[in-house]
Amino acid sequence: MNALGRHILVEFYNCSPELMNDVVHIENSMVAAAETAGATVINSTFHHFSPYGVSGVVVIQESHLAIHTWPEYGYAAVDLFTCGDSVDPWVSYNYLKDAFKASHGSAMECRRGQLDLLKRMDFNLESLRDVSAKPEEKIGTITRDVWFTERDENIALSLKHSGNQLYKKDSPYQRVEIFETFAYGNLLTLDGMVMCTQKDEYVYHEMITHVPMFSHPKAKRALVIGGGDGGTVRELLRYGQLEEVTLVEIDELVIEACKLHLPETAVAFDNPRLNLLVEDGIKYIKECENERYDLIIVDSADPVGPGEGLFTAEFYHEVYRCLTKDGIMITQSESPRFNSGVFVEIYDTYKQIFGKEKVHCYLAAIPTYPTGTWSFSYCSKGDAHPLQFDVNAAAAFSVEQGLKYYNEDIHKAAFALPNFVKELLNAKPGQVTNEYSAEPTA
Ligand code: SAM
Repeated sequence: MNALGRHILVEFYNCSPELMNDVVHIENSMVAAAETAGATVINSTFHHFSPYGVSGVVVIQESHLAIHTWPEYGYAAVDLFTCGDSVDPWVSYNYLKDAFKASHGSAMECRRGQLDLLKRMDFNLESLRDVSAKPEEKIGTITRDVWFTERDENIALSLKHSGNQLYKKDSPYQRVEIFETFAYGNLLTLDGMVMCTQKDEYVYHEMITHVPMFSHPKAKRALVIGGGDGGTVRELLRYGQLEEVTLVEIDELVIEACKLHLPETAVAFDNPRLNLLVEDGIKYIKECENERYDLIIVDSADPVGPGEGLFTAEFYHEVYRCLTKDGIMITQSESPRFNSGVFVEIYDTYKQIFGKEKVHCYLAAIPTYPTGTWSFSYCSKGDAHPLQFDVNAAAAFSVEQGLKYYNEDIHKAAFALPNFVKELLNAKPGQVTNEYSAEPTA
């Protein structure tokens, strides 16, 4: 070959949009395409972007294979670059065309590094030798870098995972997936959004339950809407005083996925005291009798898809009706920094329904949620106040139950709000100052 390398620029058309968004399938196919062509794979790095699209590269001893996909067009742009004669990149081309179910492809081969245009430099190879310590390379093993990325306009969180998709099913409501991440254990995502991970779920679940349970000492009936991972009812069922714990989750696949791959949160699903209903929480609350619950926790996902209706005034009015005179509503109320607009809107709605003095906001640090700062709302129908609680009982409970986040000091501290959050809580919808918002400025 009178050139150093062969570079094939490939366009694959009418591929399956599904496959074009499947980072695991794409990474496996690219590695296999290289190996089938006789290449020696060194490592692979792949990113799955949310809402969709995959980019990645497989480094081979003979150069690289790279890909960028546009699932929305059923299109993939692929680079096949090989050096030497031992590897035939066209073998990889045919392998990938099949793997991506492309109806057709176009390709242009160009020779890279035409030898007659190159002049060999005489230099002391020794001086170029990289003597830095290298991790011991295990023959036949390739280092795979496969990343899940939840991305918004201006913010993204990436978690490296094993590349083995533990769970992936589409329910009538959403795509339910479980990834095996290295830093945070198994990760549950719904429609590409992080819901919870094994390594930090306890923050969310302890704060959404123990703050209300200690400030409403005589709660007997609790309702959780959403919460299909099971973490919130796990925490509620620590309380022997609760005669009824009802969980209303719309999507049975979330429960199934968590039973299989998030056993720590799903442990409560086998508890005989749990009343588990798979139905729409909006319908359930509409049909629920007046003043039935002492505590209603809205453990919803973001205000999109099936969860959208859980962020409406109509829904919160129904919750208010179903609370006992001293009842408390707790909601996950998004990130004050990440989605300030939604944050201001929902607090404004809470205040109109429960009264300004009865609505409180508290914060917790959840590493895998956008910006890492998340909020919860505490709305009391009666006189319950979040900071009126038995401090000693909370301290003893935290130790006794081996809690990992919640304790009597965190309970108090969570309500100590930074000024920008206080400002947002006093802002009217549409008055959000971009100064504090991480949202894209208009
Ligand atoms: N901690 C997570 C967060 O803050 O994003 C939420 C966890 S939990 C998994 C959210 C659950 O709410 C999901 O399982 C989803 O299926 C459920 N859900 C969404 N809309 C619902 C509805 N209308 N009725 C009942 N459950 C709903």
